[in-house]
Amino acid sequence: MINQERIIADFMELVQINSPTKNERQLADLLTTRLTQLGCTVTEDSAGEKIGGNAGNLIADLSGAMPKAPVLMLGAHMDCVSPCENVRPQRKDGRITSSGDTILGADDKAGIAAILEALKLVEEQQIPHGDIQIVFSIAEEGGLHGAKHIDRSLLKADFGYELDSSGRPGEIITKAPGQNQMKITIHGKAAHAGIAPETGINAITVASKAIAQLRQGRIDEETTANIGVIHGGIATNIVPDLVEVICEARSRNPKKLQAQTEHMCELFKQTAAENGATADIDIERKYDPYVLPEEANTVKLAYQAAKAAKLAPRFEATGGGSDANFFNLYGIETAVIGIGMQKCHTLEEFIEEEDLCNTANWVVEIIKAAAASPKQPLE
Ligand SMILES: [Zn+2]
Repeated sequence: MINQERIIADFMELVQINSPTKNERQLADLLTTRLTQLGCTVTEDSAGEKIGGNAGNLIADLSGAMPKAPVLMLGAHMDCVSPCENVRPQRKDGRITSSGDTILGADDKAGIAAILEALKLVEEQQIPHGDIQIVFSIAEEGGLHGAKHIDRSLLKADFGYELDSSGRPGEIITKAPGQNQMKITIHGKAAHAGIAPETGINAITVASKAIAQLRQGRIDEETTANIGVIHGGIATNIVPDLVEVICEARSRNPKKLQAQTEHMCELFKQTAAENGATADIDIERKYDPYVLPEEANTVKLAYQAAKAAKLAPRFEATGGGSDANFFNLYGIETAVIGIGMQKCHTLEEFIEEEDLCNTANWVVEIIKAAAASPKQPLE
């Protein structure tokens, strides 16, 4: 049923279009043309301007002839992590890889290719469907900026799926964490390191003492924390008076997220105070967690559609955020689904050709199942 060579050719073309985060213009233009050819009305919002990018989110509406069916959202992101320019995809033994000097970009162009193939099949085979809203977002990598700044007045979907998980097709993510990012600035006191070190307060030493005591890494089954960035110091002959530490905490449980965040902030504050320094702390809530019950209609529909597509459906929890965190916050119940991109964010990233086809097939079954489901209640 899936046109295998067509979806592979499409995918190979998509990954060769440069689309680093905040530089999605070329891809956005191509996708606008493609979606318009497929009968969608495409709107580009102004999120790009707000975040310093050169393209906005694409929101494409495909009307169906079934007013009683719910509006289905299908989402994927257009940007890729670096190094993602001049990708030269290779096909070998049913697998697509990069040439080893870039990522492949299956994250998330495999999702885009699957959505486009599914829309082509729906059109060619005149599959009855309700209204469908396609959301191709910008700047997902590094902070979900596109989804955060999306023009919410354009969103009409009742529920949806974000095609953006590394699991093989059939995987349905029902739980994802929320994240806080903390920027900690430790102010010590500068001094000449050779002449008067005793008059200084070494901000690097203070930060180190705090970090050495910090609970980080895997905290428990649903909570993680990480010190990711540290900057400080100018020269060996100066006692450094300033260090900046950037760290994060994630949990699928809001109380644990709060507790871990407090632990980290308090530890820096206390350690600074004990050593005559001060710590300024800036906490940014990056996104909220979400948990979809297995009985939620969105989850059940994906499960049944996976079975219809002859995939093995299964539920998973993730430690990563995605645009779905924001769509759930906006009241559009959204599950992330596995599209088979493997080893993402590395030069070894690859995808099995079979998984590209299976995802497209799954999306077709999701479109059919959505058309057959009642508009309310999609609790
Ligand atoms: Zn992704």
